[in-house]
Amino acid sequence: MKRRTFIRTGGLIGAAGAAGAIGVGLTRDRGGRDVAPEIPPATGSSAGRSAGPVARSGAEPDLVLRRATVFDGSGAPGVEVDVAVTGDRITEVGNVTAIGAEEIDLAGMALAPGFVDIHSHADLSLFVNPNAESRIRQGVTLEIVGQDGSSVGPLSEAGSRATRERYRNTYGVDVDFRDLGGFLDALDRAPATVNLATMVGHGTVRGLVVGGADRPATADELQRMRGLIREALDQGAVGLSSGLEYTPGSFADGNELVELAKELQGTGYPYASHMRSEDDGLFAAVEETLYVGQMAGVPVQISHLKAQGERNWWKAKAILRSIEEARAAGLDVHFDRYPYAAYATGLSNLFPAWARAGGSGAFIRRLQDATDLPAIESFTRAKVALLGSWNAVQISSTRTSGNAYARGRRLGDLARERGEEPFALAVRLIVEEGNSVGMIGFGMSEENTAEILAHPLGMVCSDGGSYAPYGPLSGGSPHPRGYGTFPRLMGHYVRSGALSLALAVHKVTGLPARKLGLDDRGVIRPGAFADLVAFDPSTVAVPISIRSASPWWW
Ligand SMILES: [Zn+2]
Repeated sequence: MKRRTFIRTGGLIGAAGAAGAIGVGLTRDRGGRDVAPEIPPATGSSAGRSAGPVARSGAEPDLVLRRATVFDGSGAPGVEVDVAVTGDRITEVGNVTAIGAEEIDLAGMALAPGFVDIHSHADLSLFVNPNAESRIRQGVTLEIVGQDGSSVGPLSEAGSRATRERYRNTYGVDVDFRDLGGFLDALDRAPATVNLATMVGHGTVRGLVVGGADRPATADELQRMRGLIREALDQGAVGLSSGLEYTPGSFADGNELVELAKELQGTGYPYASHMRSEDDGLFAAVEETLYVGQMAGVPVQISHLKAQGERNWWKAKAILRSIEEARAAGLDVHFDRYPYAAYATGLSNLFPAWARAGGSGAFIRRLQDATDLPAIESFTRAKVALLGSWNAVQISSTRTSGNAYARGRRLGDLARERGEEPFALAVRLIVEEGNSVGMIGFGMSEENTAEILAHPLGMVCSDGGSYAPYGPLSGGSPHPRGYGTFPRLMGHYVRSGALSLALAVHKVTGLPARKLGLDDRGVIRPGAFADLVAFDPSTVAVPISIRSASPWWW
């Protein structure tokens, strides 16, 4: 089967749309208010299907961007040049003498390739709101989804029906597909403002073949999983992701991961892993991840690298050294990280993986079973102690409005106010919410965060979803990274001197594009796709209006 092209929605996102992301210049109206930019729908000319660079020598360009300081994505310092665009491609970079049908003066602004979010959770929300407001407005033009071992396919008939019903009931949208090919086709029919590529999730594949059981895969199951991964790659997947702190991915051992990752051989695509531990077991987890890449002979991407819990903070330097050594020994390894010292996950993640085996129903039954509860409780208390205290856990979302009082609150404070014991409160929320409770955990060091972000092997990701301050994606209190990752990188971290603007741009453009073999993305040069973002490096930040809509820390 011929490998299908992997970026399925269109080319030109355009400076006019993406620049506004960062809240400057192009999307301010004359009164200085933030206004919605006119975001053109993706053109539908998929990256791989285009005939190639548009070269209309002598013809008038569609758009000329003048006088910006251009960061081409390679890590080179910015230079003040013009950029001409025709159709969905850049046609000229330099002193452009032709006059464009549209001309934009970007004096004082930085112009960069559109940002590639190497670890995004936008997945199905692009069908709910194709404007992808929280993404495009921070400059993202390419989402890499299917992360943490979880992709939207392949699914069983029942799994696909469950997803379809959930999206129909919650959002009124129809997501009718069972595999990644169907997903990408559906996006082609209903394109979003951002481009998208997806990995295939190991947990998704394991769930389909082995189910939720906590046991090794049989030889036959391993073969079937390999077949499904191969099929997903043929359908356009750009890597294999694992989520080894989540079920059922956590039930796989290293050998299973090596065998499955071998399917990536010859594609150049990475094995991306949310590792088995990001705290006390961090060393072993990094070793396992590097081992999988080395044994399978494939590139590695370590997802959202961190050292959680104060007693593990010292390990950040040590794991960076292990990664550098593996790289020096020939492994194509990189990592990514979001620019925040707090993480977001399900509240269930405070509980042991064995207790979550078999899905939410089984997990809730164990929480209600007096024989299992003491062992669960001691694990969970140890995990909370690692973070510091119950106040290191903040509830970010609940499914029902009945427990809405918990949203945005620290568990320790909440328990004290309500006269409940914190562990009992956590259990009650999970039971009452059918395990749909989100949390934000405050357990990382700011110093490590800056060091990891600045490291030359590190990319920067959001690890976030797509939201909007209106409509169905406006609910809850999500981690601010869904809105703020790229402005915070270009603003807070660059202006505080953690890294240069040229390096920051490289980490979210040329570096991830090269890791995925996308030659015409993540770079500003003639012939490349015209995914572009403009911003004012002296003021770029998350707009105040968004900060107050979702009042966390920014
Ligand atoms: Zn993750």
